[in-house]
Amino acid sequence: MNEPLIQNYELEVFTPPCDPGAERFAATVRLPIDISEVLPYLNATLHGAVYHMAANALTWKKGGHNIAFHPHEISTSNVEDRQAAIKELEGLIRLVNRTWERRAEIPPDYQTHQRPNPMAIYQLLPKTNCKKCGEPTCFIFSLKLVASQKKIADCPPLLEPEFSENLSKLQAIVIDAPAIG
Ligand code: SF4
Repeated sequence: MNEPLIQNYELEVFTPPCDPGAERFAATVRLPIDISEVLPYLNATLHGAVYHMAANALTWKKGGHNIAFHPHEISTSNVEDRQAAIKELEGLIRLVNRTWERRAEIPPDYQTHQRPNPMAIYQLLPKTNCKKCGEPTCFIFSLKLVASQKKIADCPPLLEPEFSENLSKLQAIVIDAPAIG
């Protein structure tokens, strides 16, 4: 078995300097190796990721957290507590290692994709505000879908036959982000 791409790192958790004493946390791992080569593979597999080849950076929103991958650094922000920040970064390291291990089966993607537009998503929802997804309105649901805080399957009416065309369109533009495990 190949050795993992990331084996060593330094992890730091802090409250953002612009907001000392804040209730939210940010965290960074500093890497002794350059992970630039894995970024196009992450771009191909992480739905909603935005890759900038010239800047050698990839950003991704996951569960309301802002995640950024740089050649020697991975960071996350807006995390509820210290332990959650550490857990998330450790999950991201595993994600990078898994993606690198599987790179032979993933066509790399060098394009910069725009994040899905919440209004375009809203137009494809049933627009009944039935609340079965746990949200007060379909528009709030569309915002959470864009932020990967909800999945398409959280809206049961979308699975009914009358919305099958909308469901296919949604699946093409919003791909549910994989769990970081
Ligand atoms: S379950 Fe679907 S239709 Fe109902 S409020 Fe949520 S998004 Fe709208």
